[in-house]
Amino acid sequence: MAEKISKKDIGKLLSQWNQEFAVFVPSKEGDATKMARWDGEDTSFLDWYRNTVIPPKASFLPSLEEMFRFQKDKGSYQLELPVSDGQKQLIFAIRPCDANAVAILDMTFKDGYEDPYYLSRRKNTLLVGLGCTNPGESCFCTSLGSDPFDSTNVDIMLSDIGDEFLIEGVTKAGKELIARTGGLEEATEADDAKAKEVKEASYRKVTRKIDTKDIGEKLSACFENEDYWEKVAAKCISCGICTLLCPTCYCFDINDELVKQEGTRIRSWDSCAFPIYTKMPMENPREKKWHRVRQKVCHKYEFYPMNFDVIACTGCGRCIRLCPVNWDIAQTIDSVPAKA
Ligand code: SF4
Ligand code: SF4
Repeated sequence: MAEKISKKDIGKLLSQWNQEFAVFVPSKEGDATKMARWDGEDTSFLDWYRNTVIPPKASFLPSLEEMFRFQKDKGSYQLELPVSDGQKQLIFAIRPCDANAVAILDMTFKDGYEDPYYLSRRKNTLLVGLGCTNPGESCFCTSLGSDPFDSTNVDIMLSDIGDEFLIEGVTKAGKELIARTGGLEEATEADDAKAKEVKEASYRKVTRKIDTKDIGEKLSACFENEDYWEKVAAKCISCGICTLLCPTCYCFDINDELVKQEGTRIRSWDSCAFPIYTKMPMENPREKKWHRVRQKVCHKYEFYPMNFDVIACTGCGRCIRLCPVNWDIAQTIDSVPAKA
């Protein structure tokens, strides 16, 4: 049986969890919103939150991070690695699409080479999902096998049932946390029925649909169709926003900053939309804009499924909402020519 908690007691719930975890909640930073460390008091995000502009991937793959420091010492180098404080973190109110995106990122960061920076944060993190009762016009998660209350990749799932949240443990870690959390009440059959009603209504509110049937084959067949990709890419200005803020994009650059004998190795987000992304001494294989737009679309809908058997797009709609020229990946997917 699920538990429940009154919305007015969410501060108390977060205070309890804050003793064990570094709790992150939806927060405003200027015009942007992101998951940021809870200040111990403010729960006003419950009134304005739909989804964050900066995706929760930033909690595992920060936009800028120091990988290590180094010191040149008589022809060799001394390295100083960052020391993890081992702090457990809890991300509160992550949307199902973004939790699915984290699961997609896990595949990349575990594949072959295991990325210690990403994985150490990931293994110390509990995801508490909050179902969407008000999906955006650009959302299309239901076309990608998910839905606004999909709990597949969270540890605990919250459902808004009016004045209260229904709370369900999903993973062992999530169920154990609920078991040691005070102040919860057992949900009634009427609460479960209300949650079911809310979930069904939310599913119906996702009206944007795309057809992903045979999309990998269709993209493969039109890979060399320059006319098509030129048209698709026409209005893109290569600003990179769609990729930097996509919850499943993970490209990064690595640079050394050196002052005299001391330096720092930095990793920072990068984007395949930038013309210099693939610049090499002899050539640039994606010099033209349409090459890069094609790469973005095919990587998500053709190449990632070939490697991991999953489309690397969750239908979160961020790239549509945030593109300065209204480029639309959903429209693009629907415009891919049928196989000849
Ligand atoms: S956000 Fe829009 S304009 Fe910028 S790179 Fe992406 S598609 Fe192009
Ligand atoms: S491609 Fe666009 S809709 Fe898909 S996950 Fe990335 S930001 Fe969301």
